[in-house]
Amino acid sequence: MNPRFDLRSRIRPDILDMPGYVPIVPTDVLAERLGIAPEAILKLDGNENPFGPSPAALRAIATERGYHIYPDPDQRRVRDALSSHLGVAAAHIVCGLGSDDLIDLILRALVVQGDGVVNCPPTFGMYPFSTEVAGGRVIDVPRREDFTLDIDAIARAAVAAKVIFLASPNNPTGNRMSRDDLDRLLALDVLVVVDEAYIEFAGTEHSFVTLVPEHENLVVLRTFSKWAGLAGLRAGYGVMPKLLADVLMLIKQPYNLNVAAGVAMVASLGDAELLMERVCTIAGTRNRLASRLAELDWIAPYPSEANFILCRLDGVDALEVKDRLAGGGIFVRYFDAPALRNHLRISVGLEEHNAVIIDALRQIGAELGR
Ligand code: PMP
Repeated sequence: MNPRFDLRSRIRPDILDMPGYVPIVPTDVLAERLGIAPEAILKLDGNENPFGPSPAALRAIATERGYHIYPDPDQRRVRDALSSHLGVAAAHIVCGLGSDDLIDLILRALVVQGDGVVNCPPTFGMYPFSTEVAGGRVIDVPRREDFTLDIDAIARAAVAAKVIFLASPNNPTGNRMSRDDLDRLLALDVLVVVDEAYIEFAGTEHSFVTLVPEHENLVVLRTFSKWAGLAGLRAGYGVMPKLLADVLMLIKQPYNLNVAAGVAMVASLGDAELLMERVCTIAGTRNRLASRLAELDWIAPYPSEANFILCRLDGVDALEVKDRLAGGGIFVRYFDAPALRNHLRISVGLEEHNAVIIDALRQIGAELGR
């Protein structure tokens, strides 16, 4: 031990104080805790795709022979394939380790210590998390009671901010942002990042991605984690003004998109028809699950355009319900933030999972006197 060196004093004090992001627990860990087989777990806490990757993506990963070679730092094949898929030039596109990577890169490119970043809770926790890691200052502008954006309040906050993050559809509330709201935000002196991780479940005709080339302050983030079932591979991208794309290509880790993710992304785009059929199936399952949840008088499901349903629980402790579900091997996400007291978020699984979760909820309701 060197008595002259104090490691703690060298670490950024704001990082030592950070609360951190609360990630989801992997299936095998959950199964081990419960003493049951991983196959017996019904994992509805991560908004993952219950169908998994497309067969073409799995074949592409299995047949690829270049894993001993570093990936292309310019991500040429993937960016070209995305360019054809989206109808936006490859120069606007940057890929990364999930869209999380793009959130982090944008903040590292823009933010210096103390810069403001607008966040509209309840929303995805990575925006404040990555802002804090980058040394930025989170300016919270809460959503209205119906989870729409308070554009006037955002406009006031944006004066002191460099960037604003918005998810559409939003996680965990499931609602989408309107074109009118976007237009009002684009008129402000701020970079607007619209995170469309779940847009396929809402209908890609609602995407703002094709507007990017016409705007100097619009970024759209997308991912293969949800519609294409590649969450475990980490495959996301952003569509942004060329200058910002150049800057992110410059500062990103050169090999941030691994070979397996790259080939799986290209193969998924080639199999988009099948994947979008699955997305339609999930959207149908979601709508049927929402109707069945609404039949329980202690659960108020919110309308959702994503692959999950946010539920307010009335007269029953949501944490207790979450724990009881977990005891039976069913995992959902619990929220108890200021704007979301006593809520659960249930990811949409396969059609047959609807009956399993509804039966479990009915039984828990009865046990709790509902
Ligand atoms: N944005 C939102 C709104 C999300 O909910 C998630 C995942 N939970 C992500 C981005 C992250 O996606 P990825 O797996 O591409 O990093």
